[in-house]
Amino acid sequence: MDCPFCTLPPERITQENEHAVLIRDAYPVSPGHSLVIPRRHIGSWFEASEDERTAMLALLEAAKAMIDQEDRPDGYNIGINDGPAAGQTVPHPLPQSRPQAAPLHAQKALGSAHSL
Ligand SMILES: [Zn+2]
Repeated sequence: MDCPFCTLPPERITQENEHAVLIRDAYPVSPGHSLVIPRRHIGSWFEASEDERTAMLALLEAAKAMIDQEDRPDGYNIGINDGPAAGQTVPHPLPQSRPQAAPLHAQKALGSAHSL
């Protein structure tokens, strides 16, 4: 399998649970930019089971707690690029948590999710 999210080096993983892992984006759009990735290779958030969704949301909370301690950002962008037309470049769903330094940017659209 050639999916970069299924072949993550263990040192990239900052937190994990039964169904998902949390990593820092290698090319962060803002400090703390993190990705939650399901362990199972599925192409869409909508293919995730209830347990997988719960696991991913738990890591989203963990990401926020971690970023709150580091940066105390004013706000967060949380998003999923689901499908190529929505900017998904790796067919493996990943909720993103991206802190924003200023409320002014709270409505800014999410960038592409292709970067690791
Ligand atoms: Zn995958």
